[in-house]
Amino acid sequence: MSATVYLVGAGPGAADLLTLRAARLLGEADIVFHDALVPKAILELAPGAQKIAVGKRCGRHSTAQRFINKRLVDAAHKHRIVVRLKGGDPMLFGRAHEELAYLRSHGIAVEVVPGVTAALAASAQIGISLTRRGRARSVVFATPRAAAGEAPSGWLEAVTRADTAAIYMGVGDAHAIAKGLVAAGKPAATPVALIENASLEPARAVYGILGELPVLAAGIGGGPALILLGEVLGDAVSAARQATARKAQAG
Ligand code: SAH
Repeated sequence: MSATVYLVGAGPGAADLLTLRAARLLGEADIVFHDALVPKAILELAPGAQKIAVGKRCGRHSTAQRFINKRLVDAAHKHRIVVRLKGGDPMLFGRAHEELAYLRSHGIAVEVVPGVTAALAASAQIGISLTRRGRARSVVFATPRAAAGEAPSGWLEAVTRADTAAIYMGVGDAHAIAKGLVAAGKPAATPVALIENASLEPARAVYGILGELPVLAAGIGGGPALILLGEVLGDAVSAARQATARKAQAG
């Protein structure tokens, strides 16, 4: 029996943002290994599959990753269709490389099914394009999060140079991020937005400037949240400021 392991993007949360291919594979799967954050409504698309939650929300350490790799190989020897379901897109900050390499080194067929990544769900949520003709022509996906012993990545420089940046897994480190970016040359007045629970209910967005990032982050609840940064957010920041001023006046 030769199984295929599918690394499938579950998207940002809303079940109807799954691709048709992802939904079909879930329906056919014998076993599904899913991230803890994948919502129930999506898992319900795999009624015939054994479902196994693996991994913490983020920052899984490598022992846990090795364990997941081994379980995927074991499952591939026992089943026909194995789905590894990951939040957003599997190829962005999803440990896909480790799983692909391990499975391939064991001679197991692997296919990847893309999903809607958090940055694009966040952009859709607030209705602001990440690029804009004449204003923003580059977008960087970055995270400050690094595993113990990882080499520095240059993410600060990349975010500083990009017209627009999406920072994943960063809300808990808002203070260090703001400080690092300003030290790297990003103006403290750069518009920012924090979007929590993009595509889900209740989603939330707060707007401000880079210098205020720690204060903005403190207002974010417990859901997954992303930082967007760049001049494309300027109008939204001004509008939010005016709304706050109006509210204060109304008293
Ligand atoms: N592979 C995923 C990212 C995994 S890292 C993807 O492509 O989206 C996890 C981080 O993604 C979270 O810390 C948060 O920054 C972001 N994230 C995931 N889902 C989100 C959502 N619904 N709204 C806002 N941010 C989200």
